Amino acid sequence: MNKQLEDFEKAIKNKEFKIYMQPKFDSRTKKVVGAEALVRRVVNNKIIMPKYFIPKYEENGLITKLDNYVLEEVCIILQKWKSKGKYLYISVNESPKHLSNEEHGKELINLLEKYNISPSHIELEVTENAVIQDIEKARKAQERMHELGFIISMDDFGVGYSSFSMLKNIIIDVLKIDKIFLKDIFKHRRYQIILESIIDMAHKLRIITVMEGVKNKKEMEYLQEIGCDILQGYYFDKPLLISEFEKKYIN
Ligand code: C2E
Ligand code: MG
Ligand code: MG
Repeated sequence: MNKQLEDFEKAIKNKEFKIYMQPKFDSRTKKVVGAEALVRRVVNNKIIMPKYFIPKYEENGLITKLDNYVLEEVCIILQKWKSKGKYLYISVNESPKHLSNEEHGKELINLLEKYNISPSHIELEVTENAVIQDIEKARKAQERMHELGFIISMDDFGVGYSSFSMLKNIIIDVLKIDKIFLKDIFKHRRYQIILESIIDMAHKLRIITVMEGVKNKKEMEYLQEIGCDILQGYYFDKPLLISEFEKKYIN
């Protein structure tokens, strides 16, 4: 663990963790409304994707430090954009590890206060799997986060085992439907009925729907037609370096 901690601290010190931003679009206006912060580690100009280090950090607990680092970087960016009169909201991925930490919400609020950012500009993306492991714990965490004013999003919806019982127990603001639901969507009417029903149900529950992994115009037009609220994916843009994101979407 000491070696892992040393390596992590070295990475922080050398600013090896870089935040990328993938824009999210309002499906009706096609305007950018927000972005998802996605972390990469850059060593000697080589980009290391999160799947190569996030699971390791979840195991050894360093994920808490990493997620706090990401949030702080996000606060700095939001503060900068705010000063230009740009009010986008940014979503950050929250590891399941945080759910069991009752102090986590306060930690987040302290960070936000330091940069004068309202929690209503931060969306917390939590994976469905995280919630399923312990519904009661997750419900309490949700209540704490809502009391503090955060927007809560369920990430990768539909790929876990108990998506629907989770919806029954946890109050969320945003449902982020897993990209697997777009696979072969135009091959089978059955697939479309499932996706359309998820969106309908979410709307009846007053939950905003986001589709991730939108790859082409046909998917985009279909999602717009069935009323999916927010769209994200390579069709619009890939995750970008902050400087590139700002060039394209801020100013
Ligand atoms: P996620 O939160 O579900 O993020 C969506 C992933 O889909 C991202 O991969 C994104 O680059 C990718 N993606 C976006 N558009 C498309 C598309 O059109 N097609 C396809 N096939 N993929 C698309 P990425 O950046 O490799 O991140 C993977 C996962 O790592 C994320 O999944 C998230 O669970 C985790 N992650 C990333 N950053 C953080 C972080 O700061 N903290 C934590 N705890 N987890 C993070
Ligand atoms: Mg996510
Ligand atoms: Mg996702």
